[in-house]
Amino acid sequence: MRIDRLLSEAGVASRKEAAKAARCGLVSVDGQVVTDLSRHIDPALVTVVYDGKAVDWRPFVYVMLNKPQGYVSATEDGHLPTVVELLSPALQKRSVFPCGRLDRDTTGLMLITDDGALSHLLLSPRRHVSKVYRFACAEPLCPEAERAFEEGMILGNGDALKGARLVCDPLRTSGTVELTEGKYHQVKRMFGALSNRITELERVTFGPLSLDPALGRGDYRELTADEVEALRQAVAG
Ligand code: URA
Repeated sequence: MRIDRLLSEAGVASRKEAAKAARCGLVSVDGQVVTDLSRHIDPALVTVVYDGKAVDWRPFVYVMLNKPQGYVSATEDGHLPTVVELLSPALQKRSVFPCGRLDRDTTGLMLITDDGALSHLLLSPRRHVSKVYRFACAEPLCPEAERAFEEGMILGNGDALKGARLVCDPLRTSGTVELTEGKYHQVKRMFGALSNRITELERVTFGPLSLDPALGRGDYRELTADEVEALRQAVAG
């Protein structure tokens, strides 16, 4: 990989900035100052230092965000703030995107990455990766709700849903729903089909990941190596 590409992918400097820094002797590879940033290196085998700091290059980044209300699950939007804008400039410089969508008013666990292949597998309907949502609804759920969810509903537009697990709190106006697919506004439409209405929705798990309770709304952290491995295992085979 070219040195200037590594610096740009690591979110350290654009190619133009890097070329300028190299001319000032601020880029080194294994202790040797380099001025030709078109040189190819193996980032796994050498240490690149930029302006006195070792460059932390990883092929991909994986971020767990606790999404607040009011943000859209997109990389760009002409009008509304996006979840990607909550990340540091260094992370934004990598071409990260949200893995799947949450509605603007839905909160909770959102995975953001630049690993397109893993993201594709996690979202594939054939992989049945489970997601659990905590909900509050406008009316107490009817006694048949658990069975209706489990048997798989047919929505008004003909969408046939896979079975889902509904667990209600004693008053039946809150609880959790576990889905293994992700159709448009799915939870809201399922409640609509029972003449009910979601008033709050928060995603609390995504496959093997649980929303980190240390993250406040709008906070994020990178996944640990074990968490990334757990995601890979969830879609393996
Ligand atoms: N289902 C919904 O209705 N909205 C979401 O944001 C996620 C699942």
